[in-house]
Amino acid sequence: MSVIPAGTLAAMHSHDQSTEVLAEAIVRYAVERMRMDPPPLDHSMSAEELRRAAGPTITAGGLGGLEALRVFGEVLAPACISVDHPLFLSFVPNAPTEASILFDLVVGASNVYGGSWMEGAGAIFAENEALRWIADLAGLPPEAGGVFVSGGTAGNLSALIAARWRWRHRAEGAHDRTRGLMIASAGAHSSVAQAARAMDADVVLVTAGDRGEMRGDALRSTLDSLDAGDRARLFAIVATAGTTNVGVVDDLRSAADAAEELGTWLHVDGAYGGAALAAASVRDRFEGIERADSFIVDPHKWLFAPFDSCALLYRDPNVGRAAHTQHAEYLDVLHDVHDEPWNASDYAHHLSRRARGLPLWFSLATHGTEAYSEAVEITLTTTRETARLIDQCADTELLMEPELSIVIFRRVGWTPADYQAWSDAELAAGRAFVVPTTWQGEVVLRICIVNPRTTIDDIASIIDSLGSGAS
Ligand SMILES: *Cc1c(COP(=O)(O)O)cnc(C)c1O
Repeated sequence: MSVIPAGTLAAMHSHDQSTEVLAEAIVRYAVERMRMDPPPLDHSMSAEELRRAAGPTITAGGLGGLEALRVFGEVLAPACISVDHPLFLSFVPNAPTEASILFDLVVGASNVYGGSWMEGAGAIFAENEALRWIADLAGLPPEAGGVFVSGGTAGNLSALIAARWRWRHRAEGAHDRTRGLMIASAGAHSSVAQAARAMDADVVLVTAGDRGEMRGDALRSTLDSLDAGDRARLFAIVATAGTTNVGVVDDLRSAADAAEELGTWLHVDGAYGGAALAAASVRDRFEGIERADSFIVDPHKWLFAPFDSCALLYRDPNVGRAAHTQHAEYLDVLHDVHDEPWNASDYAHHLSRRARGLPLWFSLATHGTEAYSEAVEITLTTTRETARLIDQCADTELLMEPELSIVIFRRVGWTPADYQAWSDAELAAGRAFVVPTTWQGEVVLRICIVNPRTTIDDIASIIDSLGSGAS
């Protein structure tokens, strides 16, 4: 007689006919979503509207998979703006390849634990291959390595914790209770200040050049203005390779010179712009990046991977590991299973992790690196053409030549309220999502192009809608 009566194994852990039906529905949904060109732009809704439209979703008996999928597809998904729509040009959009999206489904189904080599060797090996490609683009040495984390915010924090670790380690205890200090460009992303808050460290910002970039002379005078006490507290110089607001690259060579002279860490934040290392037409802007101690780039921004993914690289991964490895009775077994285990958890502020670098790896393996270079170049070409259109249009004024793939411009005669009203109307009509930004104190328009499917005709339609009479 069986000790476990039939039917006791919860239905949710058994594979039967209903699983097959649900699998087919889910895969069909995923493929249909990918096939839409473009997907509906959609728009946000209030929690109250969603509650009314969705009805109760968490119930004692469950809705069943098909019904839950219906609620998602009909109610919830349309309340999420399609970041991969070719006219989503706000913030930094995202345009994953079909191969990367499909493989994300496999990563979920395989449920790999990506934290330790013992459990995730194959996945971590593949992630490291993708990291190697990025390290080679940057010109980092063969021993460079790191890990994929959730985003630039996590990448910057983890890199800066490693920088501080090295500074304290070198001081042999003298700075264990000293509050650290970092120097960053005025155009640095908000996550750098956030990392400083989390680390209880100080940030000194270098006055920006006219394009918002950190120049060598300004960095030098900021360093000169530090007193001896502050200089002793300096543990990192943070340079930005592609500012989020306007897409300019700091003078990385001067930053590397200064870091070398002072024996301090150089971190390069390329969360948005680092992808352009793959594009020959702008590669020279990044000179000096090969001397960085750490570098990040978000494949979920301009390297065509789905959310979420940030590649974090260290010149000397031993520092990252020393700063981040967690020790406990139940973890130490992980550290001696293999001659050279690459425990991905050890290189950032995390432990359990999804092997989130795999969608990028699969897509790179599928298409080859040249396809990536070409796709980035396509977006750069569209950006340059956009700048020309804005130049030619009587109602718009280009505020600077784009360095990477961000264009900022003025609509002559518009007030901040005009910009907002136009932006809201474009979104409400499902045409485009372009939000205003601020440049040198003035509200202006900003377009960020990372989607190879964004065409210049698409952009022309936006510029037309800004014309006199429209508002
Ligand atoms: C977007 C961005 C970040 C933050 O990245 P998340 O992935 O959103 O956390 C950091 N730095 C720069 C330069 C960015 O553009």
